[in-house]
Amino acid sequence: MKWILDFGYLFAAFLFIVGLKRMSSPVTARKANWLSAIGMLIAIATTLVDPAVKPGYLPVVFGGIVVGSLLGIWLAKITKITSMPQMVALLNGLGGGASCLVAAGELVHRLGNGQEVPPEVGAAVYLSSLVGGVTLSGSLVAFAKLQELMTGKPISYPFQKTGNLLIAILVLSLGIYLTASPGHLALFALLNLASLALGVLLVIPIGGADMPVVISLLNSYSGIAAAFTGFVINNKCLVITGALVGASGIILTQIMCKGMNRSIWNVLFGALGKASAPTAMPGQESLSDQTCRQVSPEDAAMMLSCARQVVFVPGYGLAVAQAQHEVRELSDHLQKLGIQVKFAIHPVAGRMPGHMNVLLAEANVPYPQLLDMDQINPEFERADVSVVIGANDVVNPAARNAPSSPIYGMPILDVDKSQNVIVLKRGMNPGFAGIENELFYSPRTQMLFGDAKASLRALLQELKTLQPA
Ligand code: NDP
Repeated sequence: MKWILDFGYLFAAFLFIVGLKRMSSPVTARKANWLSAIGMLIAIATTLVDPAVKPGYLPVVFGGIVVGSLLGIWLAKITKITSMPQMVALLNGLGGGASCLVAAGELVHRLGNGQEVPPEVGAAVYLSSLVGGVTLSGSLVAFAKLQELMTGKPISYPFQKTGNLLIAILVLSLGIYLTASPGHLALFALLNLASLALGVLLVIPIGGADMPVVISLLNSYSGIAAAFTGFVINNKCLVITGALVGASGIILTQIMCKGMNRSIWNVLFGALGKASAPTAMPGQESLSDQTCRQVSPEDAAMMLSCARQVVFVPGYGLAVAQAQHEVRELSDHLQKLGIQVKFAIHPVAGRMPGHMNVLLAEANVPYPQLLDMDQINPEFERADVSVVIGANDVVNPAARNAPSSPIYGMPILDVDKSQNVIVLKRGMNPGFAGIENELFYSPRTQMLFGDAKASLRALLQELKTLQPA
């Protein structure tokens, strides 16, 4: 029987690793999801044939699987793509909570049976409870902020840092004590409560807008908690899976911070969520005193029909408008007219990593047309028209030109170097960073105001009238 368990877990871990590797390309990502799901099925089946799982528990296990699966399917169906960050937050939190419960269950089980709890197991139980508890409560706060169930503004109060530090010291001391004497269940309960409190207190001072980065970090924590629990119950598959989630979450967090030109320290403890408007330089006109040029769908369509190369630059507004199918149709029509079309993808466009790739893949935009920042930036100078669809911060030249700007240093798409720019947005609202954008006032730029979906439809209609494909 042991070889079946070893082989089942090894094969599941193999599928997780291959699945993760294949997630790195949009071309293979869908199959990768299936591979990982099959891996999970094998891991569950292997656990169920383990003689340690008593047949009397099976109805509870299957009941859990049925209820969990139905809930999962329902949530997946009702969740909009723009709400994906909070959905991920919830799932991370549940993962952290499950790790805590399994570790605590094993501790109580051992103590109840009079079994010894060696210090290495005690330490793993402590770490799983700490990381899992912080993940659970921190993720629930992140979820509540993004779902607007609580204020998205950073919450601060006097002696906040000191209070957090004292709780951290309490958790550390309890952990050291419980590693040596794990039998003290009242202190163990206190440790769990303190960990949950720490999760809440660490996340409430962070602004709602920074939540996606926090969620990616908490995703990593949920993996780390699972890996510790794997040590507690001596399950190598759980250790490997947890380590994979932990490592990939950290890498993703780093990529997001790099894309925003911020350190993780700044996201977690810096001037969080504060959006400061850039101040005009002395003698310089403030941007809001300048006027931008508007364009009608007819004129914009005319400009597109004369172009040889068009670059679409999608941003968060594309996701809000759910205009991915419309941009695909417009792109198809332009290509039928012999115009070369490319899509410029910024790593932090939208509100979650890969947001634009997911949307455009849903509309079946061919992958070779999606170019990342390094590939597309040299091309902008040759683009006759760049069409910015609900993107703002990721095309803001202040990141290059204005050292006083909060986004100074953030890598951006060099849209301002295109021959002509058409910006599709509803008004002059700022983006995530809360700052004005000089691109909108450039002599090369024209604004097409309106919901991105409606504007793209109008453009396509005008273009079809001008030049039927
Ligand atoms: P922004 O948030 O900078 O701007 C989005 C713009 O879309 C707004 O100015 C808004 O203007 C416009 N918009 C909103 N709804 C619509 C609509 N229905 N139709 C047309 N336009 C619309 O988006 P970007 O993608 O440029 O930048 C992403 C920002 O998010 C970056 O600052 C990044 O750092 C940050 N971020 C990204 C994360 C990620 O993982 N991707 C994670 C955390 C933060 P208006 O209301 O006037 O229409």
